[in-house]
Amino acid sequence: MIQILDLQFLGKADTIAAFLVETSEGPILFETGPYSTYESLKIELEQKGYQPADIQHVFLTHIHFDHAGAAWALAKEGATIYVHPFGHKHLHNPEKLWNSAKMIYQDKMEYLWGKIEGIPEEKLRIVAHGEAFHIGNAEIIGWHTPGHAIHHIAWQVGGALLCGDVAGVRIGEGIVVPPCPPPDIHIEDWIQSLNLIRKLNVKTLYLTHYGAFHDINQHLDDLEQRLINRASWMKPYFENGADIKDITPLFQKYVINELKENGVTDEELLQQYENANPSWMSVAGLLRYWQKKS
Ligand SMILES: [Zn+2]
Repeated sequence: MIQILDLQFLGKADTIAAFLVETSEGPILFETGPYSTYESLKIELEQKGYQPADIQHVFLTHIHFDHAGAAWALAKEGATIYVHPFGHKHLHNPEKLWNSAKMIYQDKMEYLWGKIEGIPEEKLRIVAHGEAFHIGNAEIIGWHTPGHAIHHIAWQVGGALLCGDVAGVRIGEGIVVPPCPPPDIHIEDWIQSLNLIRKLNVKTLYLTHYGAFHDINQHLDDLEQRLINRASWMKPYFENGADIKDITPLFQKYVINELKENGVTDEELLQQYENANPSWMSVAGLLRYWQKKS
């Protein structure tokens, strides 16, 4: 059984999750959240009767800070960190990862993500596409699923798929939307990853932002359509060389209108969506997609 741990990112519920699975060989964790929410993670673990040192295996969907930013702290406590081959070197030596994020987040880095330290090689385990791991009675299969990030893995545990960001962001009663931060957004790869997920025939998708969803076909179809729509919306702005500063408020309006048209009208929920998936970041990510393509 998969348990959702709410990391209370920026003091808000239902924004960033980690996931706990209790195996016959002890608890394992999927995602760590950022280091800024490490205290929340410890509290959540404690409520289940565990300390960080009880976690010997941590499976990351990708190395973005909101998913993997506390992995180094768990590695220090003894955990092995399972990561995509393209994410491995950035966790070992996170300087580049930190500095490139700093170009985006600037003076908000520590507030948002805390800090990061390198993870020793011997604590990192590179995962091949389709590779299966057996921890006690649990089987965990890692599926390379690029599109949101080139270093993305969706983890299958029985009939559940822990999707990271490849299956989008969907909070509470809200709709699913695609998070499109720079630098890896690739629409065609993403759609292929969605097709892979469709073929797995799982019963539940677990989204890091946020929680469990069972209407899988509808969810994936909606996500695919919105991904295509966002990319098409952005294309003329790219072609006309529009300034990102001018595009961002227009895109924000587009996103908010779409949420509102689909029943997300509650201000708190709109804010959770923005915290989990900032609109301005998708502008940068989608522009970059078109730039690479041209
Ligand atoms: Zn991400």
